[in-house]
Amino acid sequence: MTLIVEKYGGTSVGSVERINAVAQNVANSVKSGDRLVVVVSAMSGETNRLIGLAKEVCEQPCPREMDVLTSTGEQVTIALLSLALQQIGISACSYTGYQIPIRTDSVHGKARIEHIDADRVHADLDNGNVVVVAGFQGISEENKITTLGRGGSDTTAVAMAVALHADECRIFTDVDGVYTADPRMVMDARRLESITFEEILELSGAGAKVIQIRAVEFAGKYNVPLRVLSSFEPGPGTLITYEDKNMEQPLISGITVVENEAKITVRGVPDKPGIAYSILGPISAADINVDMIVQNIGTDGLTDFTFTINQEDLQKSMDLLEPVVKELKAETVVGDTNLAKISAVGVGMRSHAGIATAMFRALSEKGINIQMISTSEIKISVTIDKEYTELAVRTLHKAFGLEQIGANR
Ligand code: ADP
Ligand code: ASP
Ligand code: MG
Repeated sequence: MTLIVEKYGGTSVGSVERINAVAQNVANSVKSGDRLVVVVSAMSGETNRLIGLAKEVCEQPCPREMDVLTSTGEQVTIALLSLALQQIGISACSYTGYQIPIRTDSVHGKARIEHIDADRVHADLDNGNVVVVAGFQGISEENKITTLGRGGSDTTAVAMAVALHADECRIFTDVDGVYTADPRMVMDARRLESITFEEILELSGAGAKVIQIRAVEFAGKYNVPLRVLSSFEPGPGTLITYEDKNMEQPLISGITVVENEAKITVRGVPDKPGIAYSILGPISAADINVDMIVQNIGTDGLTDFTFTINQEDLQKSMDLLEPVVKELKAETVVGDTNLAKISAVGVGMRSHAGIATAMFRALSEKGINIQMISTSEIKISVTIDKEYTELAVRTLHKAFGLEQIGANR
């Protein structure tokens, strides 16, 4: 019998009606003869609501208690979905992350899955049950509840698929696949019938939140057959392929946006060896991820050093840099949140020159100023003034002819 892991996101389980609809979807898979493990998120808005409550109690809540709090959202949905399944005659039982157990490291708020004990789930499946698992949560070595970062239920689903040796992992969400751009921002974005693992990795890393990047990393490492589908309407969705057999691949397959980054510039730093290390050392020691980095060519022995981080880490980073700036005898350090990062991703970039030029031309024709640039083998990213986000995304979508590729919506 085929073993399938299905994951349903927040909007898909956002109300009792939606939970009943998901139960029906799961029942259809069961009737077709599949064995099912279902991973669910909290109801849409619930995780944000819980974070809001904690912030009302204290400004900087302790990460351990935040995980205890935010993991409760998923506990509600596993129980409700199990009840909804039982109501339509399907045997189902729910598991929290720590009941399975899903073992993680102890980095609260962004824990990594280390091991999943699949025995209990296998036993329940053998007894004819649908097993419903809480996404986003796990338990550390010290038996502390952990969470996997926003959007982490995707990662739970893929990790469960790996641990159970499932035949396929299906990510059900509120759009019917992976698009050439966020379909909520670009009206004529197109659904991709398939996308290479490498491209989806870059797309999700560059802001396409349709699937969490860690889930993609996991799937790639263990070659999990993965598909993104709509929980609202039937359809083929988007298949993630691990080997690209399609000769006529598009040059660019997607445009993405990140709006929650902040930029820090250390101005007037004496231009000498060791600057990058002095500035970024304390940042990375505090587990803060740095994204783009630019160091200008120095004049008069002084230079400017700029990098971007998640907005949430801005205050902490500025505090960490205060003594560093004094020590380096730099002029000043400034933080800025008024920026967006726009990226174009495509494996076709490898064999075609001029993509960056085409991107810069399109932006300049609209009078959009580029602040920073970074590239990888199959991605070009720029940061711009936040005000121009939508204009930039639509402009690039058109400039690369993306409304003509992929499938109909
Ligand atoms: P879920 O709650 O099911 O996990 P998310 O909100 O995390 O869903 O992700 C789905 C959303 O991702 C869509 O509603 C869409 O607005 C957004 N999105 C951003 N970029 C893309 C893209 N390239 N293709 C599809 N959806 C995208
Ligand atoms: N509920 C969590 C979040 O809102 C995890 C998820 O939805 O994947 O981020
Ligand atoms: Mg999500």
